[in-house]
Amino acid sequence: MTLQRPASITDAFLDQLVSRVPSTSGGTWKLTEVYTGEVLVELPQSTPQDVEAAFATARAAQKEWAARPLKERLEVFKRAHAIFIENAERTTDLIQIESGKNRRMAIEESCDPPMVMSHYLKRAPKLLKSVKRGGPVPMLTTSTEIRVPKGIVGIIAPWNFPFATGISDSISALMAGNGIVLKPDNKTALSPLYGVQMLEEAGLPKGLFQVVCGEGPDVGPALIDNANYVMFTGSTATGRVIGERAGRNLIGACLELGGKNPMIVLEDADFDEVVQGALFGAFGNTGQICMHIERMYLPDSRYEEFKTKFVAATKALNVGAAYDFGPDVGSLISVDHMERVRSHVEDAVAKGATVLVGGKPRPDLGPAFFEPTILEGVTKDMVAGVTETFGPVVALHRYSSVDEAVALANDTEYGLNASVWGGDVATACTVGKRIESGNVNVNDILATAFASKGTPSGGIKQSGVGARHGDQGLLKYTDVQNLAVLKKQVMGPRPGQDYDKYVKGMLSGLKMMRKTRIR
Ligand code: NAD
Repeated sequence: MTLQRPASITDAFLDQLVSRVPSTSGGTWKLTEVYTGEVLVELPQSTPQDVEAAFATARAAQKEWAARPLKERLEVFKRAHAIFIENAERTTDLIQIESGKNRRMAIEESCDPPMVMSHYLKRAPKLLKSVKRGGPVPMLTTSTEIRVPKGIVGIIAPWNFPFATGISDSISALMAGNGIVLKPDNKTALSPLYGVQMLEEAGLPKGLFQVVCGEGPDVGPALIDNANYVMFTGSTATGRVIGERAGRNLIGACLELGGKNPMIVLEDADFDEVVQGALFGAFGNTGQICMHIERMYLPDSRYEEFKTKFVAATKALNVGAAYDFGPDVGSLISVDHMERVRSHVEDAVAKGATVLVGGKPRPDLGPAFFEPTILEGVTKDMVAGVTETFGPVVALHRYSSVDEAVALANDTEYGLNASVWGGDVATACTVGKRIESGNVNVNDILATAFASKGTPSGGIKQSGVGARHGDQGLLKYTDVQNLAVLKKQVMGPRPGQDYDKYVKGMLSGLKMMRKTRIR
């Protein structure tokens, strides 16, 4: 098919981006434009030795970076914030061309790193400041909590939000004084490479942020073995592999994994708003958002009304390939992934589910397009009933009581995101609190939780360990040094002192300190 490539994406620009990737083997991977399947650029593939060398380079740069005053480090991100926004259109072109998502979603993704920078520019000085605390003996002892960078953080990022997961997750780590070695997915290495280029334009020291490329099992082990901390976003299956290796190396890891996210619609919800939300929840980013909705629970009394409205709105969606804001829904990431989505739908239909709308690939639009699909009658013996489909496929379910809806929503190994819609917000919040999920959005799908950068956002159950955003989104990239000072030798018996007496004095001292609330 003929589709004009965005003017900002020239061959020279692509060559310059991929020239950052170390590859002593000379091996390459064909990175394609998703809408057409045409090869865009040969992406260099790093060997485990290249990964080790990347760590050595980053480590050398990190020493000087960590030694800089925080204020100086933060200046880089003040400049980067402006540079990222000035170049948002070009970033959006790159995100779209490598992922096939629609432009509305791509431009929103381009805004995520600036939002994260903005938050931590305000918060980092407080979080990284040393805190002097009292020691065990008033006046004579002190203990100071000092935040020190971990060293080099290894980031492994997925293809669905390559710029957000590759760049946003690095920002608080860099502010804290760390260096980064990032392994993006091969399919979507371009936008993170551009993010690093923009950070360097803003003044990030060269060498501090390395990008290595390769298939996960090929370069992942070397990355984990050299890192001081791992930030992983991807599937639960891969998260287990990463977590195991990090555990063996006794390094920390934040694992942001998959979901099978439910949406509960309460009887008093405004259905026009719910349908708008449902369209985004099911089909936003072509259903490839970790926090998107795959299961919708409707009250018996209003099931048919919702179904009619939602099916009609889904039929009206504009699905297509374009580098403009026209299409509501773009492509899936690859033909392989499209086949996986198709297999989930076919399995469900073979076992008795009904397709209300969609259900088929759309090769006329591009090699990896799949229709927005609504299923009815999905049960737990179907793959789509329990496993994350990660595509534009959603199942409608009925419930007869709120207790039943909550039980159904919780009947999953995952716990990443949930959405509750209701006219009475307090009641909807009460229902939301009963859902076992790291994020719960009331009268929204996911944006309110994800864009609230001050609150930690992560999964529970099999959806992850740790969180991004919030204070812990920065503190996790630091170690604590407890610098303790004893000003006079009072912490033991004096030479020759009777030990019984010393113990009595110590115990009554403890009592006295509790009474006077000193300790
Ligand atoms: P994936 O687990 O297949 O791959 C993620 C990354 O891990 C890629 O860079 C891949 O190359 C790498 N990888 C694969 N095997 C590896 C190994 N053995 N060692 C080291 N690295 C390895 O996931 P995906 O298909 O790219 O992404 C989709 C999944 O990510 C979905 O399950 C989605 O829900 C999840 N996701 C979660 C979040 C979140 O914040 N919780 C955000 C985005 C995506």
